[in-house]
Amino acid sequence: NYGEVCYYIKELMEKHTFQLIETVADVLAREILLKFPLVQKIALEVKKPNAPIMLPFEYVSVAVERQWHNVYVGIGSNMGNREANIGNAVKMLNEQRDCIVTKASGLYTTAPYGYTDQPEFLNGALCVKTLQSPEQFLRTLHSIEQQLGRERTIHWGPRTIDLDILLYDDIVMSTETLTIPHIDMENRLFVLKPLDEIAGFMRHPILNKTIHQLYTQLEEK
Ligand code: ADP
Ligand code: MG
Repeated sequence: NYGEVCYYIKELMEKHTFQLIETVADVLAREILLKFPLVQKIALEVKKPNAPIMLPFEYVSVAVERQWHNVYVGIGSNMGNREANIGNAVKMLNEQRDCIVTKASGLYTTAPYGYTDQPEFLNGALCVKTLQSPEQFLRTLHSIEQQLGRERTIHWGPRTIDLDILLYDDIVMSTETLTIPHIDMENRLFVLKPLDEIAGFMRHPILNKTIHQLYTQLEEK
């Protein structure tokens, strides 16, 4: 309801003081998305008349677009109480104000991958709605891993919890610290099996096959 949104904006503006109109746009967009669950996406323009710039102009303005993103997360544990570790991680993720865990697969036991001299893994997949960017979301996952006592020692070694971004909307990106879709996921049964349960219909944006196709292909190998 448009009227309700306007009223909420007025309330927010009265409650806060802002230094920058960039912050106004950012905070308003975010708070509206959090307050009204049916709003999926918002485009907002904030105009400020008489801004302190020594040039003739009518106003300065900032436009932002913010939306809920759909992220699929791979989750695994092979140290300590594996079910409890996974349960805690899901709870901590869901407790983030701008993250909602909307689906969780069952958990599967799979043989260790890469470095094989270690206990068996328990693996699952989650669907998470979030307002965070891919980089912010990766930081959130790292912080949860850290709080659950993960130490980064051996690459692919034992861990209390491993949280990976598998898919983020239909984004394709690759930086030094973040590759989406998750690298090599098409060759990992422990990723595809739980993911197929909650996202069989999703299409891998590079391979252009559904998760279900990738899963059955690999299962047949
Ligand atoms: P792995 O998950 O491969 O067993 P780690 O969990 O230790 O190993 O991750 C190592 C690094 O991988 C992380 O610090 C992170 O920067 C990087 N990384 C790249 N792409 C992703 C992704 N999609 N999800 C999570 N981490 C990623
Ligand atoms: Mg990882």
